[in-house]
Amino acid sequence: MKVGVLAVQGAFAEMEAYWRAQGAEVFEIRQRADLERGMDMLALPGGESTVQGKLLKDLGLFAPLKERIDGGLAVFAVCAGLILLAEKIEDPGSRDATRPETWFGVLPVTVRRNAYGRQLGSFRTVGMFDGQPDVPMTFIRAPAITAVSPDVEVLSTFDGAPTAVRWRSITAFTWHPELN
Ligand code: GLN
Repeated sequence: MKVGVLAVQGAFAEMEAYWRAQGAEVFEIRQRADLERGMDMLALPGGESTVQGKLLKDLGLFAPLKERIDGGLAVFAVCAGLILLAEKIEDPGSRDATRPETWFGVLPVTVRRNAYGRQLGSFRTVGMFDGQPDVPMTFIRAPAITAVSPDVEVLSTFDGAPTAVRWRSITAFTWHPELN
């Protein structure tokens, strides 16, 4: 499988290492020309969604990636990546909540950024993921998923709220599976 990892900001090195360890062929997406390589799956790493959204626009990556995602490209999204995909961001004070053109807005969920607090609100836990017990879960300035549409499959929860979801060809996490 050929995986394109968005590598403009954030934890892309960890994402690349993770997919290489799964035997995937991995390449970095840093500029438009990188998209010509073609991919079976797009991986959106954790980081700062506001920065990533801005860079996606500035680098001319936003529109071509959105077209591929809307067209059904498989996407594996972590944390900031999930925020970029979410249809709604419930974050009234946030600049990006008022600028929907800076995120993909395709995944029918609502997210609240930095829902557990900022850096000091980061934590680890262990839980059930997709029927598998004892999966380590690392939350780093994580968002919370506060609403999902009925056709979204919930793969894990924390305190009763969804923390990983699958919808069509998109799998998205509020925690960082690639770190464990
Ligand atoms: N707090 C970040 C944001 O709102 C996400 C953090 C992460 O990706 N681990 O974009």
